[in-house]
Amino acid sequence: MGNVTSVSRRTFVGGVATAIGAIGVGSPLELLAQQGTPPARPRDQQAPDDYDILVKIGNNENPYGPSEAVIQAMTKAFKYANRYGYPDGNVVDAIAKHHDVATSQVMIAAGSGEILDVCCTSLLQDGKKIIGCDPSYEILYQQASSLKAGDTIRIPLLPDYRQDIPAMIRATKKNHRQVGFVYLCNPNNPTGRIVTKDEVRQLLDGIPEDVPVLIDEAYHHFVEDSAYETSMKYVKEGRAVIVARTFSKIAGLAGMRLGYAVAPRDQLAVLRPYATGTVNASVRWGAVAALADKANEDKVRRLTIEQRKRVMAELKTLGYETIPSETNFFMVHLKKPVVPIIAEFRKKGLIVGRPFPPLNESLRVSIGTPEEMTRFMVAFKEIMTTRSASSGT
Ligand code: PMP
Repeated sequence: MGNVTSVSRRTFVGGVATAIGAIGVGSPLELLAQQGTPPARPRDQQAPDDYDILVKIGNNENPYGPSEAVIQAMTKAFKYANRYGYPDGNVVDAIAKHHDVATSQVMIAAGSGEILDVCCTSLLQDGKKIIGCDPSYEILYQQASSLKAGDTIRIPLLPDYRQDIPAMIRATKKNHRQVGFVYLCNPNNPTGRIVTKDEVRQLLDGIPEDVPVLIDEAYHHFVEDSAYETSMKYVKEGRAVIVARTFSKIAGLAGMRLGYAVAPRDQLAVLRPYATGTVNASVRWGAVAALADKANEDKVRRLTIEQRKRVMAELKTLGYETIPSETNFFMVHLKKPVVPIIAEFRKKGLIVGRPFPPLNESLRVSIGTPEEMTRFMVAFKEIMTTRSASSGT
């Protein structure tokens, strides 16, 4: 375990003190640390002060929040809060222009989560199934199984955590008439690995052309690997491809809820009746400003990638392997069950990723600010050293 075991008891105590000291003695975080893992509370019962001081690196959020320009645009739009019909900044038009597609090829929704839900409700009727890798964005699979008829044929990831495209093709062909759609999370959550542009083409060319493919590009903006590309071009080619995007990640608008699908008009016509259309006035204007704010997008990308590389390198020095990531999160192999470790982080005021079976010894860590990632590393060393010492390893 190399350097991990060499972190001393003194460093450990110092680390806790530093973490708590950073937010003041007698703070809610100190109480949390003393009391052990607090029970999960419903959102509406969380005290804002407790919430604010937590290091929230569990949900792949953007720790910097929306840019100044976006906040200004959203603030101005509050004057429409009492209206049903109001100018909305032509958000659909702005998205269409951004991708060089027609407005009829764009559908907005309350987060890309709603796009995923709508794909399930519209495309999984009559007992149809999703073909997708495992693990992937589990909430989609849960949505499918919550529908009376829907379900998922899950294809395990390859040993190097890449998606098994040939197996997805085989499964789709074999079950052709039962397949509602193929789900390709690219890059994948929770592993952070990409599907290359060649593999996407291999998949689309390898399956029957009437099977829709939902390509979830929630983490698109964080990819550096030149073997990756967006799948928007397939929509323009008229293939049965639905690309899902979100303003939750790069634009920092997760709490405001806006995502969208780009797909051929006929494909969207199948989806549209199932969308709620409940996108708030403020985020519509925020999204238009976010698309125009390239400087902020570049800043968030740069800071995120810098921190991802830094922390992954530090973990490697400590002897911990990580899965190569092209996103705003990564997975680290702990060499021991993740569940108790997640609880230890919570006691120290850090919310890290939940368990992602079958990767039961891996922790998913979202990229926070440089300060938050420093606190993560301090806590990581403390937790892993103490647990190693107490388990005699
Ligand atoms: N797809 C993936 C892969 C995600 O990780 C998430 C959220 N973490 C979503 C979709 C949904 O995001 P949102 O509804 O905020 O757009």
